[in-house]
Amino acid sequence: MINTAYIALGSNIEPRADYLNRALSEINQHEHVQMKQVSSIYETEPVGYTEQSEFLNMVISVNTSLRPEELLLFLQKVEQHLHRVREIRNGPRTIDLDILLFNDENIELEQLCIPHPRMQDRAFVLAPMQEIAPFVQIPTLNTSIRQLYTALPERLRKGVLLWKQQGQEEEFGLFES
Ligand code: ADP
Ligand code: MG
Repeated sequence: MINTAYIALGSNIEPRADYLNRALSEINQHEHVQMKQVSSIYETEPVGYTEQSEFLNMVISVNTSLRPEELLLFLQKVEQHLHRVREIRNGPRTIDLDILLFNDENIELEQLCIPHPRMQDRAFVLAPMQEIAPFVQIPTLNTSIRQLYTALPERLRKGVLLWKQQGQEEEFGLFES
């Protein structure tokens, strides 16, 4: 389990919290992926395509022996299990699983860009991530997650509100449903 990756989860089709939970439990069951940290869940206004319901978003960290491409394929399999249908770009989805960081690697493949190219502009990524990884830096930017979050315009930050606090005792309760 030599690699550390950060993964963003999002859902805006009910039952949203169940989709997050089911994704977490599938991720946690993978033999070569070990979940390390889990953020609280945030409720966020849609950005981009705004004629859709609010999202629930969270960020986790994992240790894994998978390579980045293998982790992406695995996460896409989890998306498929959770009946994700891609119709509108940035549109409604049961679950979206994005790799934010993979160690401090820079990857630019056709199907995989790491660091996730839009993470530094997204309050729905930075708010949950700064809870679990405030001092982690995005390679190439040299700025910590907390600094990036704090520097976001107020109008973006206020669209992302704590929905369910992650408590220590809940950490594993989350995966039960
Ligand atoms: P989005 O996440 O941008 O809303 P999708 O989940 O439909 O949209 O992803 C579109 C494509 O993004 C995927 O087919 C995947 O190959 C590609 N992709 C590129 N970089 C990443 C990354 N870091 N994490 C997840 N998917 C990525
Ligand atoms: Mg995605």
